[in-house]
Amino acid sequence: MKLIPLPAFQDNYLWLLHDGQRALVVDPGDAAPVQAYLAGHGLRLDAILVTHHHPDHVGGVDALREATGARVWGPARERIPQPFQPLAQGDSVDVLGLRFEVLDVPGHTAGHIAYFTRDADGAPLLFCGDTLFSAGCGRLFEGTPAQMYASLAKLAALPGPTRVCCAHEYTLSNLKFATAVEPGNARLAEYRQQCEQRRSRGEPTLPSTIALEGDVNPFLRTRQPAVARAAHGYDGADEADPVAVLAALRQWKNEFR
Ligand SMILES: [Zn+2]
Ligand SMILES: [Zn+2]
Repeated sequence: MKLIPLPAFQDNYLWLLHDGQRALVVDPGDAAPVQAYLAGHGLRLDAILVTHHHPDHVGGVDALREATGARVWGPARERIPQPFQPLAQGDSVDVLGLRFEVLDVPGHTAGHIAYFTRDADGAPLLFCGDTLFSAGCGRLFEGTPAQMYASLAKLAALPGPTRVCCAHEYTLSNLKFATAVEPGNARLAEYRQQCEQRRSRGEPTLPSTIALEGDVNPFLRTRQPAVARAAHGYDGADEADPVAVLAALRQWKNEFR
């Protein structure tokens, strides 16, 4: 299976997975780059997987469904372009010979879902939309810090080698913030340097992995004393309460330049 991040808009990635003949796409906010890739590689689109309802994730769904006949799956609790197969925690989707397990990950939006699978060779893979970013997490548009905390904990519990396919290239901006939170984290400094090099060559920083995010992502490190202390320094958050720490980090990031 080939995993391709198709750049779209300012900083979106439309993730495409294919076996040389059949393809699936996750969160096609724009149909054009997907259609160009399918045509250029002689692929048939079998499935469209949607994580949440924002326009930069569903804008190309109708055009792709019409042009290819692909089936569409999406979150049961959100309004996405009909018709689609509604999914929630515990459901699974069988496409391209793979089984995708559905995880409810509310916080960025109320009904956000993520898709976890194992590739034909067993390598784990996650499509997490705007919930988990490399070194960051999504804004809380519709959910609470407690929901986002639980959603991130669910993703952090996936196998360490899981490739993390986030929907935006926000990594450098997130790493700048993460460094302000945890200036003494050597792994973070090293990763930031790698990502700066990749971006200067015009390459994506993604996919990341769950193990790497556990080492560098402050939103997954709310129980680390240095992270909790920084959150306390920002707004007096209770260092022993990881939800309060996450809430402080999210607010701090919103204001961070
Ligand atoms: Zn979004
Ligand atoms: Zn988005």
